[in-house]
Amino acid sequence: MDCVENLDDGVNVAIIGAGWAGMAAAATLAQARIPVTVIEAARHLGGRARSVEIEGVELDNGQHLLIGAYRETLRLMRVVGADPDRLLLRAPLAIEYPGKFRLRAPRLPVPLHLLAALLTAGGLTWSERLAAMRFMTAMRSNAYRIAADMPVSELLALHRQTGALARYLWEPLCVSALNTPAASASAQVFLNLFRDALDGARANSDFLIPRADLGKLFPEPAAAYVRANGGAVLLRTPVRTLRDAGDGFVLDDRPERYTHAILAVGPHQIDALLDRFPLLAPTRKSIAALDYEPIYTCYLQYPADVSMPQAMTGFDGGTIQWVFDRGRLNGAAGLLAAVISARGGHQNQSQEAVASAMHRELAAFLPRLPQPLWSRVIAEKRATFSCRPGVTRPENKTAVKNLFLAGDYTASDYPATLESAVRSGVLAARLVLAH
Ligand SMILES: Cc1cc2nc3c(=O)[nH]c(=O)nc-3n(C[C@H](O)[C@H](O)[C@H](O)COP(=O)(O)OP(=O)(O)OC[C@H]3O[C@@H](n4cnc5c(N)ncnc54)[C@H](O)[C@@H]3O)c2cc1C
Repeated sequence: MDCVENLDDGVNVAIIGAGWAGMAAAATLAQARIPVTVIEAARHLGGRARSVEIEGVELDNGQHLLIGAYRETLRLMRVVGADPDRLLLRAPLAIEYPGKFRLRAPRLPVPLHLLAALLTAGGLTWSERLAAMRFMTAMRSNAYRIAADMPVSELLALHRQTGALARYLWEPLCVSALNTPAASASAQVFLNLFRDALDGARANSDFLIPRADLGKLFPEPAAAYVRANGGAVLLRTPVRTLRDAGDGFVLDDRPERYTHAILAVGPHQIDALLDRFPLLAPTRKSIAALDYEPIYTCYLQYPADVSMPQAMTGFDGGTIQWVFDRGRLNGAAGLLAAVISARGGHQNQSQEAVASAMHRELAAFLPRLPQPLWSRVIAEKRATFSCRPGVTRPENKTAVKNLFLAGDYTASDYPATLESAVRSGVLAARLVLAH
């Protein structure tokens, strides 16, 4: 295994896992000229947000959406030379369920953009518009804090957010952002995002839709940046054991010693790497208690003249939640990505049955839609942890000196997202730097 030589102060960091958290930690340390070695089990970078090749086309393991409030992700993309303005399509907050609901936030200062969006929304009654404004005012006046956490659906019911408001606005925003149905999702985490996205700078609420595959957005430029700054990134290198040998951390039976280790693997992958640290028994227990939610993405390739009316369209009443028109995003004409977040009946169906159901729902929307040339379902069964009220998330800093955790599941006021992964990686790196 390559190992970066120790620099003057002897600090030498092993980062296990090259997802967005691991690469964020690596880029932050590389920027500070600290020697890092990133060790990744898979043959690709990016973890749960990675590029995959399907039918000869470079795609993603799942359609991702970022928002303007992802400040650390956008900052770090710039640090590693990935230009967000080129790689992401920035569009004002817009939710459209054709023929049923339409909300667009104009480019006005906060909170006028939301006020105007509600006043001009299609598919809401006047009493629903007023209820939404009252809800937003109430949340704002409590600084987006609730005394005791509760499911999002309870919070909505308490504030009379019913009918089209719940069905087309709050519930879809909740399941997309927290990957947890409103009936079981944490209202406090939902409000944290609400605060940053809807009540921060106006641009925070913008949707940022990737125009390039996920690898190019961050993991690949981050790896190039780490290597250019003297670090190493190793693929196809699963780490099976980690121990403290007294003179440093040792991975498996390898000869290298690392002064610090950042474990940036997924929460369901971490247990075997912690089992030689008795002090970490409580951490292992809290991570083992996490539950998970899936995300399914179905790519359907139609003839090149097939397109949706906009880049992102909401669906309801069937299997699909959102459809992204990749032709409008990165020129893959005729390619649609249909997404289902969180758990549901689709998990009991075969992937062929899910793809057929998605085609039928699209055909009901697009008249004379031909059969797809090919389709592929990517089912990420543990896409994120289930973001429920009161879920316990471990801190980055562990009870073992110089051993840190990084990942979308560590303690944070955000749900499992690219932004929480990046923030967690940056925080773990800063803890190393603070030593
Ligand atoms: C289909 C899908 C859609 C999503 N959509 C969105 C979205 O629209 N917006 C959004 O913000 N977020 C979205 N997310 C969530 C987001 O992708 C994740 O929160 C984020 O990628 C998690 O990054 P991570 O670095 O914490 O973990 P991971 O990506 O899981 O990285 C962990 C890495 O560690 C490696 N590893 C594991 N064990 C070992 C070992 N023993 N040795 C070496 N390496 C190891 C793994 O191979 C992996 O590369 C989505 C997730 C999925 C799956």
